[in-house]
Amino acid sequence: MTVVYTKEDLKAELLKLNKNIGFVPTMGYLHNGHKSLIEKSKSENEYTVVSIFVNPAQFLPNEDLDKYPRNKEGDIKFCEDLGVDILFMPKDVYFDYEPKVIAPKELASILEGATRPGHFDGVLTVLNKFFNLVKPKNAYFGKKDTQQLMVINNMIKSFFMNINIVPCEIIREEDGLALSSRNSYLDEEQRVMALKIFRSLTKAKNMIENGELDSNLIQKEMRGILEPLKIDYIEFVDKEFNKIDKIKLGESIILIAVYVGPTRLIDNIWI
Ligand code: AMP
Repeated sequence: MTVVYTKEDLKAELLKLNKNIGFVPTMGYLHNGHKSLIEKSKSENEYTVVSIFVNPAQFLPNEDLDKYPRNKEGDIKFCEDLGVDILFMPKDVYFDYEPKVIAPKELASILEGATRPGHFDGVLTVLNKFFNLVKPKNAYFGKKDTQQLMVINNMIKSFFMNINIVPCEIIREEDGLALSSRNSYLDEEQRVMALKIFRSLTKAKNMIENGELDSNLIQKEMRGILEPLKIDYIEFVDKEFNKIDKIKLGESIILIAVYVGPTRLIDNIWI
């Protein structure tokens, strides 16, 4: 594996290749969720590039940019062990003056974007840079960040980008908690409380399997299970992210954001 720290070195490495590239952008502190993306890329491409960059542009001023968990040496070994070909760990990728990608407000001011205005602009701006540098054939993203997937797909389509976006299933702990670098913020008690998220989604799934399709009734049950956690949102949407009152099997997504102590966690389930 080659580790590169500058865009110049990345370009030089990539110039040596004439291969299909799979790309996995991350913010590091790698876990088995990232591993599944990397493995999928490895299985579908001749060459896999992983980036680790805690992107300041997607954090709001009051968010956890400074304390976001980092594990440089562990992440390098993690990628090495998985057979990653190039690990790109840039220090910075921004200039003093530069254009930005603005995510359409119809998609990016709801749900995550309502609580985190500007977040998706930061995501798209950095991805635009990385896509230009890496020139991947396929890029891998987790359904854990379902709204992000949708906003990225919208950019790919709108900018006529020749990249195939590959959605990957959510990887969970054995007890159901979706893996996330931010889980490292949880103490023992909060870790137990965080299980309520998956429990509420499982309850919703069970209700739907038993024929209940009314999102208000399902949401009420979910809120009961989530108590006393502070709920940011529970939302029922179709695949275009329009709100729905009635579940349509195979076409619906239930999304959750809650605070466990000060830590904000997200999860979702595709029905
Ligand atoms: P992050 O490092 O949190 O920015 O995540 C990098 C990529 O890994 C994103 O595409 C995430 O959606 C994906 N990812 C994070 N956690 C999981 C998970 N538990 N299962 C599947 N993909 C994940």
